[in-house]
Amino acid sequence: MATYIVLMGMQGAGKGTQAAALSQKLSLPHITTGGLFRAMDGQDSDLAREIQAIMARGDLVPDATTIEVVRQRLTKPDAANGAIFDGFPRTLPQAEALDHLLAELGSRVALVPLLTLDRQEAIERISARWECTLDPTHVYNLNTNPPKVAGICDIDGAPLRQRPDDTPEAAAKRIDTFFEKTAPLLDYYRARGLVHEVNAAQPIEAVSAALFHLIEVSKNA
Ligand code: AMP
Repeated sequence: MATYIVLMGMQGAGKGTQAAALSQKLSLPHITTGGLFRAMDGQDSDLAREIQAIMARGDLVPDATTIEVVRQRLTKPDAANGAIFDGFPRTLPQAEALDHLLAELGSRVALVPLLTLDRQEAIERISARWECTLDPTHVYNLNTNPPKVAGICDIDGAPLRQRPDDTPEAAAKRIDTFFEKTAPLLDYYRARGLVHEVNAAQPIEAVSAALFHLIEVSKNA
């Protein structure tokens, strides 16, 4: 049975960092809608320009567009054995669409780890976040996980940058949107017994260890 994991938590909780670690450990693709949308930056199309404007405001991209991007990603052969979803689904229609897409593949969501963090700490983390310009899954925090050389990615030597939607205003708006639109999804998954909380205020390695443990337990359940 394929293993599709939906990693949830407010912005700044460490979904990207943990999804990258899980992806490596489990040899499953890391599917991040935010990353897929950022990869469209600079494309010469009305859709790409509209998406960049929505992201810069901290709003959500419309469900139909988001679901289509995920549908296309799931048709790639590397997603046949499972995937780690990061930042998707974010609304109830997206969660329902994911169920349909996985049902077409003869599968379903296996586990929904919820990374918990308080709002103030999340905003502090977002303000200190820098990402690699070559591979945005390489993410640093200037306070807790700084690069070895300031401004340079440890992994590939590319320059780091701050995400344009990591301004305090856009970050606060994204967190509000999390509570308004995404938190209700937890009930959808709780009804199926899939949600397991992990304290995201712990060091990165401790969060990873808790996540690996959860996955092992759920595989044997
Ligand atoms: P993230 O990297 O997950 O913080 O996403 C960055 C931005 O991309 C969000 O603030 C949204 O504008 C957009 N985005 C990413 N994932 C989704 C999604 N599942 N639904 C709608 N918009 C999304």
